[in-house]
Amino acid sequence: MTTPFKAVLIDYDEELFTPPAWIGGELARSGVEWLEGQHRTPELALAVAREADVVLVQSVRPLLTRSVIAQLERCRCIVRLGVGYDSVDVAAATAHQIPVCNVPAYCTDDVADHTIALLMDSLRHLARQDRWIRDGRWDRRAARPTRLLQGGTLGLIGLGRIGRAVARRVRGFELTLLVSDPYLDAETIAQFGGQKVELDELLQRSDFISAHCPLTDETYHLLSHREFEQMKETVFIVNTSRGPVIDEAALVAALRRGQVGGAGLDVLEQEPLPPDSPLREFEQVTITPHVSACAPESQENLYRTACEIVLDVYNNRRPPGIINQ
Ligand code: NAD
Repeated sequence: MTTPFKAVLIDYDEELFTPPAWIGGELARSGVEWLEGQHRTPELALAVAREADVVLVQSVRPLLTRSVIAQLERCRCIVRLGVGYDSVDVAAATAHQIPVCNVPAYCTDDVADHTIALLMDSLRHLARQDRWIRDGRWDRRAARPTRLLQGGTLGLIGLGRIGRAVARRVRGFELTLLVSDPYLDAETIAQFGGQKVELDELLQRSDFISAHCPLTDETYHLLSHREFEQMKETVFIVNTSRGPVIDEAALVAALRRGQVGGAGLDVLEQEPLPPDSPLREFEQVTITPHVSACAPESQENLYRTACEIVLDVYNNRRPPGIINQ
């Protein structure tokens, strides 16, 4: 008897990304066995993934470690059901000749919308006003300092899919758009209304800074003490990329010194935010719980693509989105 082709989802975020009911049935009709569960340590993940043909992970927990990958016996593809793949040891997968795919475009507009929401909050302080009112404080100074986006300078760190979607959205605000992206030339950046600059120039000139780069060795703590020191004192920083792109201790120090104006953070170095995190002290920091990709359309796109990747591997076709060519 031949072993059925197995696709195993080892861990997912049950608040926003529970697999849809249709997926198991749809794959079963093609002869693929679908298993899903919450296996939240590398050991538990290995126990279900060891004999899987495709291993999928939706959460950003670092479960697919070098050691786990080395013990996968049949794996023909690892899928990170999301954009960032820093939680998978891609080098180990490459060493074992296992392709790793991500799902790069399932939530581009969703994350761009959330970025704009955080940017707007920095101007109008909606979260703070609501917080004060609920605390019994009707004080319209909660809206200060009110700022206009129009005429300001927005610095985007990274102009990939999400950065471009943000650039498209801010067009109506007549902003100056600066872009630091070492992998794009000035001509490409100009097509999206931006001016290519080095990171230092972006830091010095921007009124608003938004990070849209992946988390890599190069971008870990890309914004740290030296970088905050160069920024305008009123600068507002948005991060919907990955928490560790910003050195949080350095951000806290800069906020304490009044060296930065505020921040809107959807991603943090440690999620959930620890109860004793000093970031909680600052009225001018708005935090959302990693929800930039929370629209139902994103969830549907994600699992549609997962299904297509699994069927590609099953049918010996090359799936899209392979990171380690
Ligand atoms: P993308 O790959 O299309 O674009 C990333 C861009 O960053 C590229 O243009 C690349 O050249 C640039 N880049 C790489 N290194 C850089 C550096 N050192 N400095 C400046 N730019 C650099 O990715 P995307 O779809 O735009 O997504 C960006 C990131 O957003 C993802 O890597 C992911 O971590 C994050 N993300 C977060 C959420 C969320 O829920 N908050 C959802 C989706 C994606």
